[in-house]
Amino acid sequence: MAFPGLAERLADVRARIAAAAARGGHGQQVTIVAVTKTHGPEAARAAYEAGLHDVGENKVQEALKKMAAVEVPVRWHLIGHLQRNKVKALEQFVLLHSLDSPRLADAVSEFGIVRGRAMDVLIELNLSGEASKGGYTLSDLLPEAERLVSLSGIRVRGVMTMASFSATESQLHRTFAEAREGREELIAAGHPAGELSMGMSNDYEIAVEEGATLVRVGTTLFGARDK
Ligand SMILES: *Cc1c(COP(=O)(O)O)cnc(C)c1O
Repeated sequence: MAFPGLAERLADVRARIAAAAARGGHGQQVTIVAVTKTHGPEAARAAYEAGLHDVGENKVQEALKKMAAVEVPVRWHLIGHLQRNKVKALEQFVLLHSLDSPRLADAVSEFGIVRGRAMDVLIELNLSGEASKGGYTLSDLLPEAERLVSLSGIRVRGVMTMASFSATESQLHRTFAEAREGREELIAAGHPAGELSMGMSNDYEIAVEEGATLVRVGTTLFGARDK
């Protein structure tokens, strides 16, 4: 078997999510997105066999190659930066988590209009202030939320954020609570923005306490990546 122990690790993650959701009291359903980046197609197959039907990849080229080798019907999520000249690849994904600029929003909307079906997207928020990470600041969000209402080729389903690796527990709580507030701004602007994609292997319990509906976990399910 490709990933021995996956079923046990998944059971542990599910139990931790349930406990964190109960502590947080937001009453949300939580979907696990199994992040298979750097692993081969066997990771997506193993995820599916274990009952995880949502799989995340951060690079388009790698994802497309893997998809061609995966015969089980997982839902693919794009969780990394997308270049505007690759928007057509979105045809293969159910959700873009990382809408990180107005120009990308325009390009994705154009794609949705051309194919005749709006693309589901999450707005990536950069709340850690790290220049190396993409995304909108909270102050950019409101004007953009209002502008995005007029883009008929995208459907804004919520927000995504990544916390800083060096954040303390209280900083993590603050960052994830800010993301939740960002989602409220989107809802107030009229978007069907119920989703909160936040939490990775090292911080998903805190994210769930703060209301995460999608957690993106790789290492804790599949072990350390070697690249
Ligand atoms: C790699 C990655 C993850 C998963 O990280 P782990 O620490 O392995 O759980 C989540 N989100 C994004 C955007 C990633 O690139």
